[in-house]
Amino acid sequence: MSRKVCIVGVGKIARDQHVPAIDASPEWELAATVSRQGSVEGVPTFRDFDVMLLERPDIEVVSLCLPPQPRFQYARKALKAGRHVMLEKPPGQTLAEVHELERLAAEAGVTLFATWHSRMGKGVAGAKAALAGREVRAGKITWKEDVRHWHPGQEWVFEPGGLGVFDPGINALSILTEILPRPVHVVRAELDFPDGRQTPIAARVEFSRGVSMELDWLQTGPQTWDIEIEAEDGPRVALRSGGNELWVDGVRQDGSEVEEYPALYARMAELVGRGESDVDLSPLVHVADAMTLGRRNVVAAFEF
Ligand code: NAP
Repeated sequence: MSRKVCIVGVGKIARDQHVPAIDASPEWELAATVSRQGSVEGVPTFRDFDVMLLERPDIEVVSLCLPPQPRFQYARKALKAGRHVMLEKPPGQTLAEVHELERLAAEAGVTLFATWHSRMGKGVAGAKAALAGREVRAGKITWKEDVRHWHPGQEWVFEPGGLGVFDPGINALSILTEILPRPVHVVRAELDFPDGRQTPIAARVEFSRGVSMELDWLQTGPQTWDIEIEAEDGPRVALRSGGNELWVDGVRQDGSEVEEYPALYARMAELVGRGESDVDLSPLVHVADAMTLGRRNVVAAFEF
């Protein structure tokens, strides 16, 4: 029997990834959506979240595809109404918000899944296995993409809580924190804020153990989502295409067959079935630390 899920916030990621992943899975049924303007053809639409929670007790899972700023209030209501909750990345605007959601989920006895879609990249599990038990000597993350393409007109990314270039950068950090045998921490950061904006458009971050990260949101043409890690006496591991291509010592490796979002929904089905939650905040800790330690530059103004 399939599980009924309601998508909240029918926008870019809901349309690009969540709806196709749910439609393709025999484990899931898209039973409703909640969105102020958006809808999915053939699926009941609610404009008010409270009304959906009241009228559809048959829907056991809520998948929150909203920007991070409004997400906490929706998640809180869903958990208090006894629903299992999937959070898009980043799981919240702040760490404390998500700690509170964890507490509420435990209190209600329901599943909370803070998803990190990039961790489901096809090469990530292989990279983790190649580095297991090794000492990391150096690492380099290069994450450069075009904000106008991936976030067309989305002003929220430059508002407080929107993370700016760390919105894609946290995907790299979700992979880094998954594959490294031992954690690293931020030691220095430099952040470029467009004149008049609240979040950075580029950043350079240095971590312990010789790991560094370069983020840029103005790259047009080919997009770069690469992570290279060198271990002492061990392999050189490179993940390209946002974790979907794995190279070990220059040789391309086979990876998982499953795409990122189908893998997230399969994991959610497993968590609900087992009565477990999965909330790892380590990628958001690095972002918070980079924002705390970062030197700030003001750069050219940005408009979409
Ligand atoms: P989006 O299209 O701007 O927003 C999704 C929908 O949320 C909107 O269409 C809007 O629907 C609703 N919404 C926006 N602001 C709201 C508010 N203040 N209160 C209530 N509803 C609101 O954003 P997105 O690109 O899908 O990103 C959503 C999340 O997915 C983000 O956390 C992002 O990091 C993550 N994500 C995005 C991408 C990507 O490629 N864009 C990739 C992976 C993950 P209504 O107006 O109909 O209510």
